[in-house]
Amino acid sequence: MSTVSPLIAGNWKMNGLTHSLDELSELARLLTTGESPRALVVVCPPATLLAAVAAQGASSGIIAGGQDCHQEPHGAHTGDISASMLADAGAQYVIVGHSERRTNHGETDAVVCAKAEAAIGSGLKPIICVGETEAQRDAAEAESVVSAQLAASIPDAAEHHEVVVAYEPVWAIGTGRTPTRDEIGEMHNAIRARLVDRFGLSKGEGIRILYGGSLKPQNAREILGIANVNGGLVGGASLLAKDFYTIISAV
Ligand code: PGA
Repeated sequence: MSTVSPLIAGNWKMNGLTHSLDELSELARLLTTGESPRALVVVCPPATLLAAVAAQGASSGIIAGGQDCHQEPHGAHTGDISASMLADAGAQYVIVGHSERRTNHGETDAVVCAKAEAAIGSGLKPIICVGETEAQRDAAEAESVVSAQLAASIPDAAEHHEVVVAYEPVWAIGTGRTPTRDEIGEMHNAIRARLVDRFGLSKGEGIRILYGGSLKPQNAREILGIANVNGGLVGGASLLAKDFYTIISAV
């Protein structure tokens, strides 16, 4: 079984103004005064706060991450941000292929793969998101959908660079609903098997597989204790330092 060290990432999505840095300070205080965390802690704020989060988080071990990057290194892409810009602002990770990007911006697996490759090229570690819709789960297609997404969204460059996979069932994001313990375990085992098939035992076992979708203080201990769940990607519950810290402490 994989023994990779856990990682908890907070995805602030389109939430956060300057005063949100007070929550970051509170998280830093909790992390440095409490028992030292057993997980790497990543916070992915909106791009406007990225440099501030990177600077302010450094002394407490909080790592900054972006929420998306463009697949091109630079150029005429109004409103977009390149991976090297995120790295320049202090990010070490970047989420790619979040279901909100796939749905709202029509991002295909090929686009997600190109973004992950761009991230790697700029020295970032991509957090590559996959997950089935409710209709796909109801049709017993969850595993085949996720396997296909994995195959097409993870670039070959992952063989020699660090990538993170986040399994986020679309129907669990922001809904307060989660799959059962067994369903999460089965999916994470299946993802592990796909990673080992593609990258071999030692690399495949070393890739973190995060669970995301309504991960909360109330269910964190149970979900984070499932085999092959190597941490979490947390949306809503990452906005309050107290809740996020409870999830981190559940590892
Ligand atoms: P949620 O979001 O924790 O609010 O469900 C998770 C995510 O979208 O990454």
